Amino acid sequence: MSDKLHFVCPHCHTTNRIAADQLGSAPDCGSCHQPLVTGQPVALDAQGFARHVGRSQVPVVVDFWAPWCGPCRMMAPAFEQAAQALAPGVQLAKLDTEAHPQAAAPYNIRSIPTMVVFKEGREIARVSGALPAGEIVRWVRSVV
Ligand SMILES: [Zn+2]
Repeated sequence: MSDKLHFVCPHCHTTNRIAADQLGSAPDCGSCHQPLVTGQPVALDAQGFARHVGRSQVPVVVDFWAPWCGPCRMMAPAFEQAAQALAPGVQLAKLDTEAHPQAAAPYNIRSIPTMVVFKEGREIARVSGALPAGEIVRWVRSVV
């Protein structure tokens, strides 16, 4: 028997139970039948944030950002490249702190962009300020 882990669908936010060794073979969501592993950051609202951070057993890296923040917009392509490089073992996600301030409030984000790594619902690391893709990947790999 292989270990099953909870992987939250980036499309419909349903929690799928999936064998860890299946993650690399392009599994589909049991609910919406779209690919579970996209290699792209998933844009979260408050409910999606709660589901991914609270239920995923794959580490989730959340980019707390806002549309008015120049460095945030500049970092977006790097964050997308990092999402590709870190899939499927790590899910990258974005939370627009202006649109969903209530989701960001408990984390006391003082400046944006701030990236926070969550594992099993708990914050394990954070970094503030924009980083290039290679440094995002190195940082995440060093903490998960
Ligand atoms: Zn789905």
